[in-house]
Amino acid sequence: MKTSIATVTISGELPEKLEAIAAAGFDGVEIFENDFLAFDGSPADVGRMARDLGLTITLFQPFRDFEGMPEPHRSRTFDRAERKFDVMQQLGTDLVLVCSNVSPISLGGIDRAAADFHELGERAAKRGLRVGYEALAWGRHINDHRDAWEIVRRADHANIGLVLDSFHTLSRKIDINSIRSIRSIPKDKIFIVQLADAPLIDMDLLYWSRHFRNMPGEGDLPVAAFTSAIAETGYDGYYSLEIFNDQFRGGSSRAIAADGHRSLIYLGDQVRRTLGGRTAIGKDMPPRAEVKGVGFVEFTSSEEDAPELVGILRALGFRQTARHRSKKVALFEQGDIRLLINTDEAGFANAAYAVHGTAAYAMALNVEDAADAYQRALALDAEPFHQSVGAGELDIPAIRSIGGGLLYLIDDKSPLGHFAEVDFETVQDETALAPAGLLNFDHVAQTVSYDEMLTWLLFYTSIFAAGKSPMVDIIDPGGVVRSQVIENDSGTLRLTLNGAENRRTLAGHFIAEKFGSGIQHLAFRTDDIFATAAALRENGFTTLPISPNYYDDLEARFGLDPDLAECLKAGNILYDRDEQGEYFQLYSRTYGEGFFFEIVERREYRGYGAANAIFRIAALKKQISRMAYLGSKADRASILR
Ligand code: MG
Ligand code: MG
Repeated sequence: MKTSIATVTISGELPEKLEAIAAAGFDGVEIFENDFLAFDGSPADVGRMARDLGLTITLFQPFRDFEGMPEPHRSRTFDRAERKFDVMQQLGTDLVLVCSNVSPISLGGIDRAAADFHELGERAAKRGLRVGYEALAWGRHINDHRDAWEIVRRADHANIGLVLDSFHTLSRKIDINSIRSIRSIPKDKIFIVQLADAPLIDMDLLYWSRHFRNMPGEGDLPVAAFTSAIAETGYDGYYSLEIFNDQFRGGSSRAIAADGHRSLIYLGDQVRRTLGGRTAIGKDMPPRAEVKGVGFVEFTSSEEDAPELVGILRALGFRQTARHRSKKVALFEQGDIRLLINTDEAGFANAAYAVHGTAAYAMALNVEDAADAYQRALALDAEPFHQSVGAGELDIPAIRSIGGGLLYLIDDKSPLGHFAEVDFETVQDETALAPAGLLNFDHVAQTVSYDEMLTWLLFYTSIFAAGKSPMVDIIDPGGVVRSQVIENDSGTLRLTLNGAENRRTLAGHFIAEKFGSGIQHLAFRTDDIFATAAALRENGFTTLPISPNYYDDLEARFGLDPDLAECLKAGNILYDRDEQGEYFQLYSRTYGEGFFFEIVERREYRGYGAANAIFRIAALKKQISRMAYLGSKADRASILR
């Protein structure tokens, strides 16, 4: 698959854009006229810059309001075209994009447009240039790629071809058979393919297109089906991202370009899996990894800070079962849950501690085949992580993840699944408290800044077999937090990504105080929330106090049995209900700057209690401001216990 991206997709000045595009691994770049006009260098300078970075200029665009103009506008339009051709020759590209006319004075008629294109083809041919015609979804007369193709067909000129753009075709919600009809277009008449996805939002087409497009796989449009139809023609030209998105234009040019490259690799993989041997596009890589559960979560801490965290784990009913043979790492277990606390003074964990303080900086996913998952992750541009291991110890495959943390890959079929037996030695925990009935990880909640959400959504859903559910807004007293669920059908992988827009929200406070994104809470599952709550009370665990008003409202809202409501209130247990079932949630107080534990019981319920988040956030914030008031660490510890 030959990859390209339009300069308009990413932020920065033109040189910065080109460098980011090259660094991400693209083969080509579309030069957008405005990017070029805002730059001080000549077209020849831009062409040289691109070529020096190893980039082909795949397209110069846009040329607007060309076809079907009445005289005298028609003659002036051809003069304009000649000037564009001059620029193209200096840039060193042979293809220009003409988008369908939106001018109110333009005249309709397929044959009139075809004749204009034939003449433009003659002029382009004299200079060895080509012209691609694209139907804008809001074009005045031509707004469908099928009509644009008819014009190109009738223009009947070797230098005139079609530009297919997934957004313009799919935003009009044409049916799947019309998408499939693309297969009958001769491949050499498709001059370039532009790709963009978008979230399904009901709004004006033009506004939607100019502000909300995103990378293939990040939105809701059937971009893979569209691309498969094109691949079936045998088309072997560039697939070029053309994405107008306010967030991207304000984001990091390198990160956005990297996301774009990953989105195209993933798209190629999807097409290859659909078409099998019928296409050459897409890399050979293992399929998306099936996740069977969270293998472990590892905290980084220090000798000085760890006892506070250990105290909370013990109160939650965890017991230390083992310690690492060569490093200062303690393993705590309860049910199938494994938590590691790393207080080693060397290595990556220690470096993470220096930046974030005590934090859940690493997570292991237990997959069907760790070697395959690792290979796929690397094929999708994930950054590998290595550090030295002791003799006889396992080298667990790992990639860099949210906030610079680590994502380990383990499985049950190789020794990786037995890392605890290989790398650790058993200890007797004399001071453990009673277990609290915690069974396994229910979900892991990661907090990121809002503009990173799509990055990590694409990261997880391209590497692992998981889907996303629609983003929901969580109301925090300090602003809105966006929440995106990533999960698989069996519920063995449940991740929530919370995107903070400002530091007044709890999520934003967490990012600001922890110096970056990361795991903000771990939710454990019990099958008897009331028994767990009683065991926790015995252990001296302090739950997050929830406002009594919440329970009055709950009783009224769900028509709850007053006895049940009273039990919930006594245990600070939150409750939710959906069409499938019921949900019970209980929270710890925050540890440090906004990290906390959650315990849930699901009775057929599929969600995450979004409606309760505002009450939980308000309670946590109350605690954080009290801690800030009390200040010293000793006082904080007394509140936590
Ligand atoms: Mg386009
Ligand atoms: Mg949660």
